[in-house]
Amino acid sequence: MFKSEYLNRVYEGLAARNAHEPEFLQAVREVFESLEPVIAARPEIEKNGILERIVEPERIVSFRVSWVDDAGKVQVNRAWRIQFNSAIGPYKGGLRLHPSVNQSIIKFLGFEQIFKNSLTGLPMGGGKGGSDFDPKGKSDNEIMRFCQSFMTELARHIGPDTDVPAGDIGTGAREIGYLFGQYKRLRNEFTGVLTGKGLSYGGSLARTEATGYGVCYYMQEMLHDMDTSFAGKQVVISGSGNVAIYACQKATQLGGKVIAMSDSNGYIVDENGIDYQVIKEIKEVKRARIKTYLDYVPSAKYVEGCRGIWSTPCDIALPCATQNELNGEEAKTLIANGVKAVAEGANMPSTPEAVAAFQSAGVMFGPAKAANAGGVATSGLEMSQNSQRLSWSFDEVDEKLHGIMVNIYKSCKEAAARYNMEGNLVAGANIAGFEKVCEAMIWQGVAY
Ligand code: NDP
Repeated sequence: MFKSEYLNRVYEGLAARNAHEPEFLQAVREVFESLEPVIAARPEIEKNGILERIVEPERIVSFRVSWVDDAGKVQVNRAWRIQFNSAIGPYKGGLRLHPSVNQSIIKFLGFEQIFKNSLTGLPMGGGKGGSDFDPKGKSDNEIMRFCQSFMTELARHIGPDTDVPAGDIGTGAREIGYLFGQYKRLRNEFTGVLTGKGLSYGGSLARTEATGYGVCYYMQEMLHDMDTSFAGKQVVISGSGNVAIYACQKATQLGGKVIAMSDSNGYIVDENGIDYQVIKEIKEVKRARIKTYLDYVPSAKYVEGCRGIWSTPCDIALPCATQNELNGEEAKTLIANGVKAVAEGANMPSTPEAVAAFQSAGVMFGPAKAANAGGVATSGLEMSQNSQRLSWSFDEVDEKLHGIMVNIYKSCKEAAARYNMEGNLVAGANIAGFEKVCEAMIWQGVAY
């Protein structure tokens, strides 16, 4: 499958040991494909067993979360924290709360996080966690009891210099607040153990906006290299959660017109440009479905079923919902309708067939681990502010975020060019992220 015997050997061993973890294997395979020329040029990688080590999490904590619902009934969920790689800093990565969560999904996310965090240039290792708990339809009290029970176990494994979790799907400001409160009660410590905190207790300005803004800053660099910009472009954004809302705001500020957005039930099309404030009200305040957009903007259209969003003609597509939400056929539809650039706001939203279709059609493609790194980068800035016991202004954080996204784009572009893969940002992101972690692992030796 790979040209390198070393890559084949490590991948086949991993696939045999983890045959029941398809998302994790998909993520590893994509990184390995990019590493072919690096493995050929740098024998020290095999000599130090880097690939064997990097695909194996340093630690997997799997635990039970039991809690009592409003009817007084005991509920049980399964949860994980996967501490994947600490070569360049404390483990860092979000907590996902969604019924689809399983060990494979958390491993894929944790593996991706290693390289993403490395790309930010900040000292953060890779980790991820979550639970198959479904926050939808739960009362605030049920969410609070779940989060407290979850943290009762998690607190033993994390700490501001060990592992610093954050939000992800289903874990927003409300959940982070309950988690932080419980950590503080258990440890009697007020530290920056979580990021994505509220502003009144150590959160960073611009963290909420950071992933969505960062995707647009990355896209801006891609467009710049195509001698164009957001101005006058039609933009389609899937999802309507944290990443999608602020991608919508920034794309609009930069001159684009966002014409479609979705949730897991369906999508809306507003040819006049979606008002992000309406989506924010629907999703963050009312926690309602996206079709209620029509109550605010009756001229918009709602279509049942989320996947149809990719049939909306556009210049720029930003998948910001979830993994494998855009397949090869949907990519071909986007291409036939004239899409020019795609950047991933969600983690691994495009299937390998979709990525291949974009690349062979000459559509500029920005992969998740680079394009959506703005969230974790700003979490890194939140950690710095917590350590200094200072808080920076919105503009200061936004300016740093912008600078980080420009640098990530440059690193991806330069790494691809160094290995004769000009313009291939997937390879560039994987290589640039990998090389730093690899070097740190070599310096730190192997424990005998
Ligand atoms: P949220 O929970 O805030 O929002 C997720 C959105 O995606 C919701 O609108 C949800 O709709 C929608 N969605 C979920 N599943 C599907 C599906 N199968 N098809 C269409 N829409 C779907 O999560 P985030 O915005 O935080 O995260 C989105 C993605 O971005 C994830 O892949 C996450 O890992 C990634 N990411 C997030 C970062 C962050 O800072 N938040 C940082 C980096 C990456 P519904 O309400 O119907 O479920």
